[in-house]
Amino acid sequence: MQRQQAVVIGASIAGLVAARALANHFQKVIIVERDDLDPTTQPRKGVPQANHVHILLTGGFNVLQHYFPSFTSDLNAAGVPQLNWSRDVQWFQAGSWKTRQPCSISFYPQARATLESRIREYVRQHPKIEFRGQTKVEQLLFDASKTKVTGVLVNQAEQSSEIAADLVVDTTGRGSRTGQWLEAAGYQTPTKEVMLIDLVYVSQVFKKTATPRNWQCLACHPSKNSPRGAIIAPIDDEHWIVTLFGYLGQHPTPTNADVLEFVKNLPVPDIYTTLAEATAVSEPVRFGYPQQVFQRYDKLKRFPQGFLVLGDALCSVDPVFGQGMTLACKEAQALDQVLASAQGQQAATLAQAFFKQTQKIIEVPWLITQAEALRFKGMPGSRSPKIRFLQWYTEHVFWLSAQSTEIYQAFLDVMHLLAGPEALLRPKVVRGVLGRMFGRA
Ligand SMILES: Cc1cc2nc3c(=O)[nH]c(=O)nc-3n(C[C@H](O)[C@H](O)[C@H](O)COP(=O)(O)OP(=O)(O)OC[C@H]3O[C@@H](n4cnc5c(N)ncnc54)[C@H](O)[C@@H]3O)c2cc1C
Repeated sequence: MQRQQAVVIGASIAGLVAARALANHFQKVIIVERDDLDPTTQPRKGVPQANHVHILLTGGFNVLQHYFPSFTSDLNAAGVPQLNWSRDVQWFQAGSWKTRQPCSISFYPQARATLESRIREYVRQHPKIEFRGQTKVEQLLFDASKTKVTGVLVNQAEQSSEIAADLVVDTTGRGSRTGQWLEAAGYQTPTKEVMLIDLVYVSQVFKKTATPRNWQCLACHPSKNSPRGAIIAPIDDEHWIVTLFGYLGQHPTPTNADVLEFVKNLPVPDIYTTLAEATAVSEPVRFGYPQQVFQRYDKLKRFPQGFLVLGDALCSVDPVFGQGMTLACKEAQALDQVLASAQGQQAATLAQAFFKQTQKIIEVPWLITQAEALRFKGMPGSRSPKIRFLQWYTEHVFWLSAQSTEIYQAFLDVMHLLAGPEALLRPKVVRGVLGRMFGRA
């Protein structure tokens, strides 16, 4: 496979990290983005979810640190606080507050648009990567036999032109048109797994109050008895972003009065009492997320050479679990590894090898988010024995992580995509679950 030029469609988190990974293998990488990327630190039209809280989990943070070695020191230099997940986050989940003893997981809270602009600046500095902003990809270009993607047709300022590429990567998010593009080129209709979750987010920025607090982040997670939740997280020294979410018609609405009313009805009063004395400095903004989707390109019999898909365009999971950016980072790193492998060297086997790896990355978050959504009464979907077992086991783990730092740590390792679910089978966790079952905890 020639490795002269790669094109990445979309300059959000998945596109930026994918471009950086591709720069290890191609002479030149062009990122094509339909939005104007300046001014850079505000939510932009193509990424409306940036108006809502975004937590970068440690699994994703580690990938960014790998590709951008000054990431941590730059965050420290910029004064972004490093928070300890259990010491600084007061988290109510499944009927109890988590234990607050420090754990090994830390994170840097920041606005989604600020995080993206930080990554974009690193990528801009890379000598092999070029940005084309305000440029929309209209179509894929194929060779005469339609077996290979040869580039993209773009539109910039009403002018169409072609960009040739040895590899094109679609990172256009949930609105990806890959399915239509493939069908139009004569490929089988791609299958996708869809789970309806009927989730709505409403977010608003508040000025922090001066009242002393023993938390930096305050969260109330939806539970089977209450499909509503909310989080208060810092985005800078002065401000919190407050995000409310509700499933299955239990939706927040974007008015100042309704924001307060919504948090007043959460199972714990802490978020309401905090906001009741805080001042909103933005209008509330709504985001509807009807379904989570996993595009099963790994199951297609035929997939064109010279083309891949990653990030939300491949799989978008329930955002309440904060895993989307981390999945995108891990998929981009998998692309790097696959391109370095023997299978990745061959145009004919690259896609198969890549989608096999991404399937492994996505499998567990996809299953866990399904199991969590299916706890809600009335949520459509099959409650298989596997799902029921997972719900039963993790409910014990949630409860135990209010008591035991070690068990909470195991849960956080899985949640932050640092360990597989086998971490929940560590002896201490199993003993805890059995003890609780037999009434010893
Ligand atoms: C409400 C909400 C809250 C979330 N919270 C979290 C969280 O706490 N933690 C977390 O890790 N993740 C979270 N996520 C998920 C996260 O936003 C995404 O996983 C992450 O942004 C990666 O998405 P992406 O880069 O694949 O696509 P997107 O962010 O959707 O970006 C797609 C890009 O492609 C561009 N584009 C689209 N079409 C074209 C075209 N034809 N030509 C050129 N450019 C194009 C768009 O302008 C955009 O820049 C949340 C998502 C939502 C919806």
